[in-house]
Amino acid sequence: MKMFRKFVSDHFPHWADENEDWRKWATNQIELLGGRKWQPTKQYGRTKRSKRLGVQNSTTLLTLSLENILQEGVLQMGKKKLMIDPGHGGHDTGAISVTGVKEKDINLATALKIAELLKSNPNINVMLTRTTDVFIGLSDRARMANKAKVDAFISIHVNSYKDTSTGTETEYTRDGESKKLAATAQKYLVQATGFNNRGINKLNLAVTRETTMAAALAEPGFLSNPTEESILVSPDFIPRYAEAVARAACEYLGVPYNTTVGVTQPVTVCIGDSDLSDPGIIIDGRSWVPAKMTFAALGFSSWYFQDKTVHINSTSVETKIFDNTSYIRSVDLMSLGMVRSVFMEPDATNPKRVLIIPKEG
Ligand SMILES: [Zn+2]
Repeated sequence: MKMFRKFVSDHFPHWADENEDWRKWATNQIELLGGRKWQPTKQYGRTKRSKRLGVQNSTTLLTLSLENILQEGVLQMGKKKLMIDPGHGGHDTGAISVTGVKEKDINLATALKIAELLKSNPNINVMLTRTTDVFIGLSDRARMANKAKVDAFISIHVNSYKDTSTGTETEYTRDGESKKLAATAQKYLVQATGFNNRGINKLNLAVTRETTMAAALAEPGFLSNPTEESILVSPDFIPRYAEAVARAACEYLGVPYNTTVGVTQPVTVCIGDSDLSDPGIIIDGRSWVPAKMTFAALGFSSWYFQDKTVHINSTSVETKIFDNTSYIRSVDLMSLGMVRSVFMEPDATNPKRVLIIPKEG
């Protein structure tokens, strides 16, 4: 879990306060699949062991998914079924970006985000080929989708090439429905990335060839291109990638895109062992805290407000203003080294509480 947290906070700092919610969701997902509870330390805590366990884990996951399929047939009638396939995993890292980020991690984070965006959608049932960092063979991925009789299959990847290629493309193998799905995905992906539109490509790829339903493989940009890479590994990219795929899937499946992600709610902000008198705000599952009050509670004075933006030690941080109060993301306090850690209180429901642990001394 530590390595996992480190990965998340290094590459997706805005997710640090979602870990608990995220883990709960993943646990629920596994329980829904009829399996045992998710044990993140096995996946993320011990690299060597998880490498050795890779094949075994993938078998377990495949079995779980097949059980799930049986349940889905009974419980989820009438819903459109979507399978999202985070590419690579385990010993198969996929591409490694110019700054060392592994494609498999971006793919998994994006897939989990897609599932989060769509899990409350009453018209769609999302399944994933993997929910952890495990290796699964290409044919096994296709088999899962075929057994589940899903209506659409979208594989999540990020591109890489030996030259400085740029741009967004979507692959498919079969004409007809797969081509239509690929074109829909491409439309949303290009909007999300703003990169050069490389169009859709007919390629003979295992997952799009061996699946029997509409199947497409997304390649939003090139991790091998320094300019695109800096965008692809930035914290804002994964939610954009995920939303593009989620919207494309809904459009292709003919169901409205709706999500509870984007709903705002108040959150109690607890710093050390006392709550602030004013609440923070949860937006899209991320907590924002009232800046001035938080700094006062932390005894921090090296900040100022300029151009509608809060600056901490002369660094500007993303700021939202509601009712003349400026809010900053609680995880920014952590990434700027002002506090030790930030957590969403795991069991709090209404209102939620974000716990900010100050540095010692
Ligand atoms: Zn890939």
